Amino acid sequence: MIDYRSDTVTKPTKEMLEAMFNAKVGDDVYQEDTSVNELQDFAADFFGMEAALFCSSGTQSNQIGINVHVQRGGEVICHEESHIYKYEGGGIARNTSASVRLLKGERGRITVEDVIKNINPDDIHFPPTALVSLEDTTNRGGGAIYDFEEIKKISQCCRSINLPLHLDGARLMNALVVNKINPKEYASQFDSISICLSKGLGAPIGSLLLGTKAYIQQARRVRKVMGGGMRQAGYIAAAGLYALKNNVQRLEIDHQNAKTLEQGLSQLEWVKNVTPVVTNIIIIEVASEEIKNSIILTLKEKGILCSSFGPMAIRFVTHLDISVEDIEKTISVLKGLEI
Ligand SMILES: *Cc1c(COP(=O)(O)O)cnc(C)c1O
Repeated sequence: MIDYRSDTVTKPTKEMLEAMFNAKVGDDVYQEDTSVNELQDFAADFFGMEAALFCSSGTQSNQIGINVHVQRGGEVICHEESHIYKYEGGGIARNTSASVRLLKGERGRITVEDVIKNINPDDIHFPPTALVSLEDTTNRGGGAIYDFEEIKKISQCCRSINLPLHLDGARLMNALVVNKINPKEYASQFDSISICLSKGLGAPIGSLLLGTKAYIQQARRVRKVMGGGMRQAGYIAAAGLYALKNNVQRLEIDHQNAKTLEQGLSQLEWVKNVTPVVTNIIIIEVASEEIKNSIILTLKEKGILCSSFGPMAIRFVTHLDISVEDIEKTISVLKGLEI
C-alpha cells in the first residue's frame, strides 16, 4: 500500500528502533528518565525555550497547553478550522470549560487585524479573552505557512496586553524547512509551542510542549491529572530524539514529492482544483461527492490510500515512507483512471 492518508502512518526505521532499544530509561514521573530528559532538553535548546514536556500526542500537548494558559470561563481566539477546535473532541470545553472565538481566514491563518477586532473589552457581559492560538503549518489549510511578519505582529499585539500566544506546531518543522527562519527567532514570538514527533518526523508516538520553566511545571501537573504521567517513557522519547536529530532536513524531500504529485494531478481533466502545495499536503477538488467516493475506492483497490477531506475534496499527505518511485507509480495510476 502507498499510504497518503496522513504523515502519521510512518513506521520506525531500523536505526530508530535501535535508538529505542538502546535507550537509558528511568521513572519519568520522578523525572528520572534520562532519555525523556535528554529529548526535552534538546528540544528546549533547539527552540531557545526554557523547558519542554514530553506528551503522548499532539492533542494532549495542545490541551495541556491551553489549560495552563486559560482559566475556566475564559475565551480562546483561533481559526474556525483549527485542530484545537475541530479535531480535539471539544477538548477546550471539556478540559478547560472555556469559550472559543472562531475567526475566518485564508487557508487556516488569521490576521492581526482580526485578532484585535475579537479581543473582548473588560465588560462583565463577555468572557475574558485569555489566549490566541495559531497553527503552522495549517492542516485544513492544506499545509499553508504563516508569513513570519504576520506572526510578529500578532505576537506584539498579544504581548502589549499580556495575552498569551500559543502555537499548534504539529507540523512546525515542515514550515521551518521552507521559510528557513531560525527556530529560536521563530519560537521567541510564542509563549507556548506544541510540536508533533509522530507526523512527518517519523517517530511512532509523542509530542512536545515548550514554554517557560514555570509554565512547564504547571503543564507537568496538568499532564499528570490527564493520566499522561508515563514511567519508562524513554523508550519512545529515544525515537523522538532520533527523529529531531535525523529527520528534519529530509522533510524537503516530502515537499518535493508533494510538488511532483501536485503537477501530475493538475494535468488531469477530472481534477477541478488543486490547492497550491507549500509543504507536504495536497488537496484536490473533484466535480461531485460520487466522483470523490469512487476515486478513493478505486485507488484503494489499486493499492493507494488517500482521505476524504470535505464533500468534494481529497487529501494526500507525503511523508518519509513515500518514495519518489511511489509518487511516479501513483501518477501513472491516476492517469489511467476512467472517471
Ligand atoms: C495531527 C495534528 C495535531 C495532533 O494530533 P494527534 O493525533 O493528537 O497527535 C495537532 N494539530 C494539528 C494541526 C495536527 O495536524
